[in-house]
Amino acid sequence: MRLSRFFMPILKENPKEAEIVSHRLMLRAGMIRQQSQGIYSWLPLGKRVLDKVNAIIRDEQNRAGAIELSMPTLQSAELWQESGRYDAYGKEMLRIKDRQDRPMLYGPTNEEMVTDIFRSSVKSYKDLPLNLYHIQLKFRDEIRPRFGTMRSREFMMKDAYSFDLTREGAEHSYNKMFAAYLRTFDRLGLRAIPMRADTGPIGGNLSHEFIILADTGESEVFCHKDFVGFDIPGEQTDFDSVEGLQAIFDKWTSLYAATSEMHDEAAFNAVPEGDRLSARGIEVGHIFYFGTKYSEPMGAKVQGPDGKEHFVHMGSYGIGPTRLVPAIIEASHDDNGIIWPASVAPFDVVVINMKAGDQACDDTCELIYAALSKAGKDVLYDDTDDRAGTKFATADLIGVPVQIIAGPRAVANGEVEVKDRKTGARETMTIEAAINRFVA
Ligand code: ATP
Ligand code: MG
Repeated sequence: MRLSRFFMPILKENPKEAEIVSHRLMLRAGMIRQQSQGIYSWLPLGKRVLDKVNAIIRDEQNRAGAIELSMPTLQSAELWQESGRYDAYGKEMLRIKDRQDRPMLYGPTNEEMVTDIFRSSVKSYKDLPLNLYHIQLKFRDEIRPRFGTMRSREFMMKDAYSFDLTREGAEHSYNKMFAAYLRTFDRLGLRAIPMRADTGPIGGNLSHEFIILADTGESEVFCHKDFVGFDIPGEQTDFDSVEGLQAIFDKWTSLYAATSEMHDEAAFNAVPEGDRLSARGIEVGHIFYFGTKYSEPMGAKVQGPDGKEHFVHMGSYGIGPTRLVPAIIEASHDDNGIIWPASVAPFDVVVINMKAGDQACDDTCELIYAALSKAGKDVLYDDTDDRAGTKFATADLIGVPVQIIAGPRAVANGEVEVKDRKTGARETMTIEAAINRFVA
């Protein structure tokens, strides 16, 4: 992508409305724009990061055996009347009437709709287990939308829903998502700690929130500090192994970890004082097992091996991609801007032409841009005629992991400078070496 042809409206000044660093940097880097309270457009730079986050989420959902579909944002109120949640949900639900005066709503979550899809076609235990997910916009009319897309009214969620014949089966499905979440957050460059959680309006008996530690987090959390160093389940994890996944779950729940709603002071005090971590955190994921809470009122049942009908045991599993993007920034930035983990960076590398219009600089940059693009890298080429200082500031602000800098003096020697955004380390090398670093 040539910067001269891209759309990246950088802000020079710090936006006054932004209270936390991620919100400030997302606005300054031209990633998002607020359209009305708590409702955002994702501008091209932000959209690239969001897409990469979603690709990782999708990859790990698929690995764990979940199957993607797409459900609509608008739902009919009838389904919610069946489950009893239409009245229970309260003012967070945006209620709408269509032209026939039929009550509709903008989905805040999808348990009812997915249960309806399930009951319409699954009749036998032989079709189980089943886990269906989608990545879709939700709407919750939050009392206090704030911090940009961290807590917005319209936001994106990956929500998965599992169906099993028995409680034991449902626990295995829960453990699959538990392990998939550990892997997902790790690939996003985050350390998320599963904490026992309250089930809230989703209801049910077993629930964990995945929390990343950050001073600006809205939750107060308490945990054993060893979680920070625990191993993440590897790529070879066998998601069909009941014992294997139970062992992962047991390990990751063996030490104290709870949010303030579930906090047990006495149990926390039993942790040796030097191992206690009490901090603030951001909830980036939440998983629930809720048994037959929806399948019973909505009549979702299958025939079991005993020939009898059984209400299915369900769980639901949410991750918030539009919250994860600012959460990643909270965890990874410096005074100059964002520092993206390579896995979600909007571009792999930015090529900075320090003197656009200078033949040697232009030729060198074009050569590098073409070679890296051909190698499948996402390259941003700053071909604008801005001052070098402005270019450096922009490159640092938008946080692309590697900068290749082509200035007239180095280029005259057949060289460029390669800068690591995170460490700030700069290295002069031949043009060929700079290309080979990515191509090899
Ligand atoms: P919170 O406690 O932060 O209000 P929640 O418990 O209501 O969230 P869940 O129903 O558990 O949210 O939703 C699953 C995931 O969706 C959350 O873990 C979070 O990542 C994301 N999410 C929920 N509400 C919002 C929001 N208003 N803005 C952005 N992301 C959200
Ligand atoms: Mg939650």
